[in-house]
Amino acid sequence: MKQRTIKRKIDGVGIGLHKGEPVPFSLHPLDVDSGIVFYRTDTRTYIEAKPQNVVDTQMATVIGKDGNNISTIEHILSAIYAFGIDNILIKIGACEVPVMDGSSASFCMMLNEVGVQEQNRNKKVMVIAKEIEVKDGDKFSKISPDNNSQFIFTVDFKHPAIGFQKFNFNFSKYEYINQISRARTFGFLRDVQMLRSKNLALGASLDNAIVLDDKKIINEDGLRFGNEFVRHKILDAIGDLTLLGMPYIGKYESFAGSHHLNHLLTKEVLKSKENYYVKELESTADTTFSKAYA
Ligand SMILES: [Zn+2]
Repeated sequence: MKQRTIKRKIDGVGIGLHKGEPVPFSLHPLDVDSGIVFYRTDTRTYIEAKPQNVVDTQMATVIGKDGNNISTIEHILSAIYAFGIDNILIKIGACEVPVMDGSSASFCMMLNEVGVQEQNRNKKVMVIAKEIEVKDGDKFSKISPDNNSQFIFTVDFKHPAIGFQKFNFNFSKYEYINQISRARTFGFLRDVQMLRSKNLALGASLDNAIVLDDKKIINEDGLRFGNEFVRHKILDAIGDLTLLGMPYIGKYESFAGSHHLNHLLTKEVLKSKENYYVKELESTADTTFSKAYA
């Protein structure tokens, strides 16, 4: 199986969650072994999608270099991971990736529209060799050896509209598009009000998030899935773990995980060569991945 990029450049535009202003962006093909690279067109800064470039994980995953940050990279990365794209340049005209509808569906549509280009070098995957776990109180995220690429996420919010939700997702591009890509981010009205008082979340609206008050969901159209919340947590985890630098074979499990825990997990895995090995997919004989990216 070969490395992949996209067939041609594609442009997009969307509202930034924090500033509330339109953000132009574009996706470009990139050479073999280049990885995923962001570029801020307004400050002319290249930032590679690597854990060492992560500068904040409080409300979103933020990467940066010399004070030039790009926020909310997780949803676009999640879509890129799902399409099996190894090499791509993402140009962004501001300090944040647009929020679109709060899910990765728009990014998936763009990737679908341009199409995937196979390249002239074998694809590399990371095979997890050891269980690695990171914790924060009773919250955890861990990754362990497995023959597949699997995500099991549990949330237990003390909120009548969320409660306990568990979702077991066996990764494939097809299932990702159907079961994960449309799941939206969510937030609580009181947090949005607090953030707005600090001049943040200015772009947040019912068009790009599920919003909850103390008792219920405010969006008139309700949810896209009964367990949309936990599905979005898997969307985020896939995006955050893209910073491992290659697709991985293993089982990800989390209870109440966050961008913070995902970031710690990524760093922990990469800390020691004993935690994983890199496998080159020399032919199409590796059915796990040929199937996953069919
Ligand atoms: Zn998210």
